[in-house]
Amino acid sequence: MKRLFAVIGLGRFGYSVAETLLKKGCEVLAIDRDEEKIQAISEIATFAVQCDATDERALKDVSTQNVDVAVVSIGENVEASVLIVQTLKDMGVKSIVAKAVAPIQGKILKNLGVNEVIYPERDTAIRLAHRLISPNVLEYLELAPGYSIEEVSVPEQFSGLSLKEAKIQDKHNLNIIGIKKQVSRMVQGRMMKGETFNFTPLPDDVIEKGDVLVMIGKEEDLDRFSGAE
Ligand code: ATP
Repeated sequence: MKRLFAVIGLGRFGYSVAETLLKKGCEVLAIDRDEEKIQAISEIATFAVQCDATDERALKDVSTQNVDVAVVSIGENVEASVLIVQTLKDMGVKSIVAKAVAPIQGKILKNLGVNEVIYPERDTAIRLAHRLISPNVLEYLELAPGYSIEEVSVPEQFSGLSLKEAKIQDKHNLNIIGIKKQVSRMVQGRMMKGETFNFTPLPDDVIEKGDVLVMIGKEEDLDRFSGAE
């Protein structure tokens, strides 16, 4: 049986979560108190219901089906997100993810038993700052404090070397988990540009200027490698 996701609060964040889940073929119960938000999602959502989710009875009534995972995407109103999480816990929803705009809101939600707290604005800002510090860094994802995955353009001095020759693991203490290459090929007489992704890089694979390395390691080592330090 397919899992049922409830997305409560259809602002930009909640809408995108619901839309992506639906595109992936999941069942989504979309809830918002704003009629327009419900109208906007009603054509794609499995169920779309307008209600004030802080109203315990209303929320229980619309969730007659068993919700497996709930995403509470109400950032601005701390009280509302707390009340909604409390009702979801009472209903026995096992997995709850909640959006927070401030650390204090995140702490309260965690104390209530939310499995995961997301800070979309803070996380986007951190990723942007990493890219601004070093233009070689194209993408950044923190895995644990002090450790991350980064996509880094191949520095000039490594162009034409195999991974074995580049000795990135030995000298920089970084693991390369993927190589992206830009490719051009003729399709029906037209030159088309695309990208290949090698996610099982081998020691003899050659890297060139223009390639992107997907690397995992300590942030200080990644900063040194990408020229941020
Ligand atoms: P985003 O940044 O994701 O666009 P936002 O910060 O602009 O969101 P929020 O205040 O976090 O807006 O609200 C997100 C959505 O949650 C809105 O569509 C709002 O109508 C809905 N919402 C707020 N409170 C409730 C509630 N009590 N019950 C149901 N929906 C609610």
